[in-house]
Amino acid sequence: MMKCGNAQCACRQDPAKRHGPYFEWTYKAKGKTVNVKLTRDVMPMFRAASHQYRKLRSLLNRLETLSQTVLRHQAKLPNPPTATDRKTGIFSYPRLSPMQHRLTSA
Ligand SMILES: [Zn+2]
Repeated sequence: MMKCGNAQCACRQDPAKRHGPYFEWTYKAKGKTVNVKLTRDVMPMFRAASHQYRKLRSLLNRLETLSQTVLRHQAKLPNPPTATDRKTGIFSYPRLSPMQHRLTSA
């Protein structure tokens, strides 16, 4: 909850009359952070879009790891040890498992 710039506003004195909560959409464009104030009514759409974006990023990360594994194998290079292997000192190829993330229209 925030105070506004108006010196006469009730939010200056009374914490219960402060403004907000505000919702913001933050993203980077050409290296600069952009903040867009959002109204409450568009929040469900932005939450859903954010959720889908995180799923997509997760899926792309997994796809990249799988691609690297396959390409290293094709190039007959050893795979780097996984985090678990580094602890135990055992070197092994990461296991290829079915995709855990799927894009849905939900
Ligand atoms: Zn105010």
